[in-house]
Amino acid sequence: MRILCIHAHFDDFEFVAAGTFELFRQRLQSGLEAKIIVCTDGRSGHQFRTREETARIRLAEQSTAARVGGYQFERLARPDGRPFGEARLLTNDLLAALWKAIRDFEPDYIFCPPLPEDSRAGVHPDHITVAEAVRRVAYMINVPHAFLDEYPVADESVSRWIKTPVILNTYDSYMGANGSRGPDFWVDVEPSFNQIIQQSWCHQSQISEWLPWIGRHNMSPPADLAAWEKALRERAMRQRLDLGLGEGPPVEVFALTQWGELASREQIEKDFPAVHWL
Ligand SMILES: [Zn+2]
Repeated sequence: MRILCIHAHFDDFEFVAAGTFELFRQRLQSGLEAKIIVCTDGRSGHQFRTREETARIRLAEQSTAARVGGYQFERLARPDGRPFGEARLLTNDLLAALWKAIRDFEPDYIFCPPLPEDSRAGVHPDHITVAEAVRRVAYMINVPHAFLDEYPVADESVSRWIKTPVILNTYDSYMGANGSRGPDFWVDVEPSFNQIIQQSWCHQSQISEWLPWIGRHNMSPPADLAAWEKALRERAMRQRLDLGLGEGPPVEVFALTQWGELASREQIEKDFPAVHWL
């Protein structure tokens, strides 16, 4: 089983899918390969550190979180090796880089942000750029000559068949529950909540510095790990209530798309830990 989370920013994964990935890991152990791809260099999102310093810290924080979570991590780069900045538009280089990264990993499942259905929904521009890119590249995953201008091969007469994955949308708090069609199922992540705490705690430049400053998240810097757990649990409860799930354990929610391979309910129930349909 190979699962891949593609997101815009360092720390996005921890807030939308880390609990589910940990449940996969607990169940499959060495039978799981999990990977996170971050599509920006993260350097814009800080208020007092230089862009160079921020990019360096963010990379180190995600690398530490990856060790804690036992997953592979890649910062996406253009065909010429340069990472992508934030607040940028969808480009051919982004499509090409995603195409190459997905083909190289050959996942069974991809997790990525959703696109808004309601034009009144607020969005994070980087999140919808990544969502749009994954959607546009999905058909091309098994088109071996699609981006050979960017990634030439020695012999175009030989191609490897690449499985097209099932593609799921994660929850996007910028869009909220009203901006998208809504999730199809939820996973109870109480059994893996400690991993969410530990992995998200690695992103100190975000949770203690940037996110409280930008003021979108009603956050104050957590004094210690216990305060961070409390804040995370309150956030999880707000998300449940936004989704109309009522009070209960923390959940991660996912929507099935038709961007890639179609998955039956039976397949999802077989592959996913503790699925609850909505
Ligand atoms: Zn983000």
